[in-house]
Amino acid sequence: MVGGGTAGWISASLLAKKLKGDPTKTVTIIESPNIPIIGVGEGTVPSIRETLRKIGISERDLFVHCDATFKQSIKFTNWLDNSIHGKYNSYHHLFDYPFPFGDNLCPYWHNDQSSDFAEMVSIQQHTAESMRAPKDMVHREFEGVSDYAYHFDAHKFAVLLKRNAIDNLGIEYIQDNVTDVRLGTENLIEAIVLEQCGDKNFDFYVDCSGFSSILLGGSLEIPFIDKKDVIFSNRALTVQVPEEESVIPPYTISTAHKAGWVWDIALSRRRGVGFVFSDHFMAQDQAYQKLERYVGRSLDSLNVRAIKMKIGHRKKAWHKNCVAIGLSQGFVEPLEATAILISDFSANFLCNKLPHNTSELPVLEKRFNNAVIYTWERVIDFVKLHYCISDRQDSDFWIENRNTNSIPDSLLEKLSLWKHSYPTKDDFFSKFEVFDIENYLYILCGMKYGFTKRLLDPQAMDRYGEQVVKVLMAAKEQQKLLPDQRALLKKLKLHGFPSI
Ligand SMILES: Cc1cc2nc3c(=O)[nH]c(=O)nc-3n(C[C@H](O)[C@H](O)[C@H](O)COP(=O)(O)OP(=O)(O)OC[C@H]3O[C@@H](n4cnc5c(N)ncnc54)[C@H](O)[C@@H]3O)c2cc1C
Repeated sequence: MVGGGTAGWISASLLAKKLKGDPTKTVTIIESPNIPIIGVGEGTVPSIRETLRKIGISERDLFVHCDATFKQSIKFTNWLDNSIHGKYNSYHHLFDYPFPFGDNLCPYWHNDQSSDFAEMVSIQQHTAESMRAPKDMVHREFEGVSDYAYHFDAHKFAVLLKRNAIDNLGIEYIQDNVTDVRLGTENLIEAIVLEQCGDKNFDFYVDCSGFSSILLGGSLEIPFIDKKDVIFSNRALTVQVPEEESVIPPYTISTAHKAGWVWDIALSRRRGVGFVFSDHFMAQDQAYQKLERYVGRSLDSLNVRAIKMKIGHRKKAWHKNCVAIGLSQGFVEPLEATAILISDFSANFLCNKLPHNTSELPVLEKRFNNAVIYTWERVIDFVKLHYCISDRQDSDFWIENRNTNSIPDSLLEKLSLWKHSYPTKDDFFSKFEVFDIENYLYILCGMKYGFTKRLLDPQAMDRYGEQVVKVLMAAKEQQKLLPDQRALLKKLKLHGFPSI
């Protein structure tokens, strides 16, 4: 593995777990001593819990060492035209599956429209809005009453992964720069050349070198499929604001602005704020001023980082005896926190399809690439959805986002399908849908998508109405039982959760 960022350590750890007990195979990570990790990426999705469990990192360690907090949702604000939607211009994309009592309530919500979609169909909306954690001290590690993920300090998380990988998983670690790559027969990678240690030969190579993609993009020359015409945001200004005692929202706050959006993530000792924008529609100076206004204080004494984002993915993620995972494979801006998710997915897929000899490479390569490229396309569709169904008129950024030339055909097709009928489960039929009906419903209904109204008969309205009342009652009960997030974090650092 080349690269010691989140992607490198997660992939190496999963591989080491998979190969445990096989004395003929080892995993080695090579990390540059002077090229820093990107160190952003503070929002995750629920699959991270399974990954941590698999690689043997305890939930308590995450909270103690990485300033972690619980994440149950993303709260989107100002993604619609404020002059039309006013105070109703915000909604949640929750992690819990909606409809806890069975029926798809989207048609009911559309016929009724007396309240917010997520509030009507999910208990978790109420838990999140009352700043509660998704669990209490009695719940076991990685279990709760609602689905959840974490916010954490990305630098500290990489250190925790590294320590666990070296101390507990037997991963070999070399600190050196890869300066060259030697290709052998049939253009397989034969060796990588290290600045200090010279040539190193391995059977299989994983490129986790970040945006530079030194193996797959560099030496193997796999082209980059640029998606800047679909996803316009290509810059981020990030800052960490110290804050020790304020309320910790158990969700990411995502506030749209004229040329992008701002993420606001509360950790236990600070906030991480990132101003995401497109430099075609806003200059960096202006973005800086707007970030300052958002944070509500001068940023002079804080370290503001400016990050360029390369939006798109490699044409192939696996070529010959090399796979790229993480930013070296691709990246689609931070909205919906999909990067660690795709790294995780790729690493797990690789573990299941690890070749035993070179003759197996072509078939595995094809399978892996089909799945991973499909995943990228679906992630791009989903991220674009947030922009292209907005009715904001206040800048070219929003108007251009609705231009059908910028919307992938696969998404246009779905959107026209949903003009005709409300979304149903069978609109999503692949095993590799990263975002499924529930995710789409939260966004479409939250953004008040223009479904064609299909009237429901009074009996159906009554039946659905009863389920909505049940949601509200269950939400009230749950709020009584769950603790405030900050109070729980304090206890947790002292005592930890019961182990699995
Ligand atoms: C603005 C922004 C916000 C983001 N927010 C989120 C989020 O909320 N959620 C999420 O899931 N993801 C997010 N991401 C993505 C997330 O940061 C990355 O997916 C994650 O950090 C993994 O990065 P990486 O390991 O691929 O690369 P990096 O962290 O860049 O690591 C690259 C590694 O390669 C090594 N390396 C490079 N060249 C060489 C060489 N020649 N020799 C040896 N070693 C080398 C470096 O030393 C480093 O260790 C965000 C990204 C950006 C840009």
